[in-house]
Amino acid sequence: MNTCRTTCPYCGVGCGVLAEVTAEGQVAISGDKAHPANFGRLCVKGAALGDTLDLAGRLLWPMVDGKRVAWDNALDKVANELRAIIDQYGPQAVAFYGSGQLLTEDYYVANKLMKGFIGSANMDTNSRLCMASAVMGYKRAFGADAVPCSYEDIERADMVVLVGSNTAWAHPVVYQRLLQAKQQRPALRVVVIDPRRTATCDIADLHLPLRPGSDAGLFNGLLHYLAQRDRRGHLDLTDGETALDHAQRWTPEQTADFCALSQQEITLFYRWFADTDNVVTVYSQGINQSSSGSDKCNAIINAHLFSGKLGYPGSGPFSITGQPNAMGGREVGGLANQLAAHMGFTPQDIDRVGRFWGTTRVAQHPGLNAVPLFQAIEQGEVKAIWIMGTNPVVSLPDADRARRALQRCPLVIVSDVMRHTDTTACARVLLPALAWGEKDGTVTNSERRISRQRAFLPSPGEARADWWILTQVAQRLGFTAAFSYTHPAQIFREHAALSGFENHGTRAFDISALATLSDAQWHALTPVQWPVTADATQGTARLFSEGRCWHPDGRARLIPIVPSLPAAAPDRHYPLILNTGRIRDQWHTMTRTGKAARLLRHLSEPYCEMHPQDAADNGIHASEIVRLSSAHGWMLAKAQLDSGQQRGSVFVPMHWNQQFSGQARVGSLIAPVTDPHSGQPESKHARIRIQPWATRWFGEIFLLGEQPPPPCGYWSKITATGISHYRMAEREPFGDGWQWLARYTASMASTFQQLTYQWAQSGDGLFYAVGWQGQQAVMAFYAQREPLVLASAVIYETLLNDDLPLAERSRILLSGGACTEQDAMGATVCSCFGVGEGAIMQAIRGGCQTAAALGTQLKCGTNCGSCIPELKALIRQHGETIALQHAG
Ligand code: SF4
Repeated sequence: MNTCRTTCPYCGVGCGVLAEVTAEGQVAISGDKAHPANFGRLCVKGAALGDTLDLAGRLLWPMVDGKRVAWDNALDKVANELRAIIDQYGPQAVAFYGSGQLLTEDYYVANKLMKGFIGSANMDTNSRLCMASAVMGYKRAFGADAVPCSYEDIERADMVVLVGSNTAWAHPVVYQRLLQAKQQRPALRVVVIDPRRTATCDIADLHLPLRPGSDAGLFNGLLHYLAQRDRRGHLDLTDGETALDHAQRWTPEQTADFCALSQQEITLFYRWFADTDNVVTVYSQGINQSSSGSDKCNAIINAHLFSGKLGYPGSGPFSITGQPNAMGGREVGGLANQLAAHMGFTPQDIDRVGRFWGTTRVAQHPGLNAVPLFQAIEQGEVKAIWIMGTNPVVSLPDADRARRALQRCPLVIVSDVMRHTDTTACARVLLPALAWGEKDGTVTNSERRISRQRAFLPSPGEARADWWILTQVAQRLGFTAAFSYTHPAQIFREHAALSGFENHGTRAFDISALATLSDAQWHALTPVQWPVTADATQGTARLFSEGRCWHPDGRARLIPIVPSLPAAAPDRHYPLILNTGRIRDQWHTMTRTGKAARLLRHLSEPYCEMHPQDAADNGIHASEIVRLSSAHGWMLAKAQLDSGQQRGSVFVPMHWNQQFSGQARVGSLIAPVTDPHSGQPESKHARIRIQPWATRWFGEIFLLGEQPPPPCGYWSKITATGISHYRMAEREPFGDGWQWLARYTASMASTFQQLTYQWAQSGDGLFYAVGWQGQQAVMAFYAQREPLVLASAVIYETLLNDDLPLAERSRILLSGGACTEQDAMGATVCSCFGVGEGAIMQAIRGGCQTAAALGTQLKCGTNCGSCIPELKALIRQHGETIALQHAG
């Protein structure tokens, strides 16, 4: 058994992972106890990494215009067409769009090629959608994109404020660390600031369900409160008076009105903050993804700077990133307004980077960032784009327009690990990249910790490392000397050397002490937090301990903030506010987590969560399909009613896309409104309306093998091994069932068109059919007027088990798997041990009244702990039901 130490490829927590590969090629995944980000913990996504390593759906060779080609042909094609476009239209006509999934070494080469040699800064990244406002906030306050804190500070704080962050689901291991600290020190206060009551509120001493988007007002009010009580800290600040003048009108009364909170709860929060020395404020996409995200970040930082709550253990403003290597991208300059290694586009920086890289072609000014970039593609100004490791057709705002832009673009190159994504569907050139477990490099997590992602699997098919692909194209463009890399360690050394080049303490990012690592030392590199310099060879856990910043005068800035609400207020046509976000068991656009069957059992279909009264006002019932629309697009999802949702607000997960559901890209509803300083889109806010979707019939179909989606208005794919399982709903009449089946099977292999059927039909619209190929059941189809409740696991097992007597298989399949209580009661709550809501409710009724008791009886919640808030909610729900029954 070989054990490989590597890093999780999902969120910015950056957990250490042990991957043990057996002689038979099986991979066992566990948390790395030696990694300082997680000390052995993993959330359910990380724990399920082993389920995602198969090659199903992988892009394994280069393709041009839909045909397989040799690497040389693909690389020649890319280089020749890029050169032709640059020659004719100039370097501004081409663009790269990268990703926080790229390794730092890949990112570095892409950035160097585009900004240093092609000579355009049109290199942006999906990190623009995630944390560009956090970057801007730090740069304005500190003069550098420098996150002051470590995860350890969350544990050492006496108060942790979580703002715009459903940490329990989006950064589960950070949440687990906080939970454990609170269990050990119950006096540690947790304040959650979020319009929704989320799973994170489970441990909150105070939840402030503020008006969506009003966070800057709340923190301006805090600054005013601190100033009034003279809680000025020890830091020497610039512009303090102007910021305080701006904050002056934010009295508790005014703030309460702006934030739709009570004065009592606001002043309680302010008093706690003022009276606690060790406060960490953790913020994430709920703050960043806003038309005033940078101001919100600075409003938070202002409160910490003014009161001096940073630079020592247990304190500071701490933005946590969504992606595994968002920070690595920031280090190399992967955003269009950065040049490289924390340098911008001043004449001095351009000159310095040019001398270091040995080029006179360095881009002279910032390029187009994500939203304007895709608009420039639509307008024909950008004629070639190379997209690496990301799915902008799903993740960008106004996503339908982004797709149309790519469809019109003369040259779309996509490097990806999957053959079919919503974005690869728009590509002319597809380049197969290495996936997690196959690629080798470094990533940096939210606390500035650089860790190794190591390869423990062979490269499949003809897939290659991104840095290699970029290097090959660079050489074909004539830049051979500057792109002669043969190993990622060479790239890392160059990156480290650039960080220290003529730095002299003027730039926060400096890892020059790593510039002389040998290949073997790079291979063995242990996690380390930057800066890593001659004075700090073991890294730096905390910044600003001496109060010095990177502005020319060395002093931090308080930024005057004028809070504003989101750009679009609800109106008569679109009366509801849409909020988007992540769910516990899925990651981004599901290209990897969607492969793990157990991760789709928690929440298996796109849904919209709304307050029961809003649902009633709109004629909507629980579990029915609804149509959500905005001025930009529409989608279908299942209604889920939850009184933890604010009246007038609706939550929809960001993950679903065309590969998993017919019409469920929430990005298509979002307006392309961006923050004026950071360019980050307001993805957390759109005005929408919701209508019932007048479903005539619901269906489910199970087919052996990989089969295309059904011809239905609504469908969702449920991952299952060896079986294509789709849930469906339709507004058109069902007819006699056979016509529909004939239409569907016409799109499949001929064997599916020559089946013998057993079927059952009733006068009230029920139609069940089992399709046989000889003795083999290959299809089970169920349709009826009401939503179905089927025992899916039993149906999978029966379809795959030829040993069962034929009559028994037929009986089970025609009965829909003879539904058990667990199926009837819905989703899997504990994905680690596959414990469903039905079994949990049964145990609660049997006397389990704590999450610990449920864990003892069913094991649920005893591994990663991500489901504990839901277990507690089920216990509460049961208690409320009993109370109601007694009252009745
Ligand atoms: Fe991976 Fe994030 Fe989960 Fe850690 S918390 S295992 S980094 S998804």
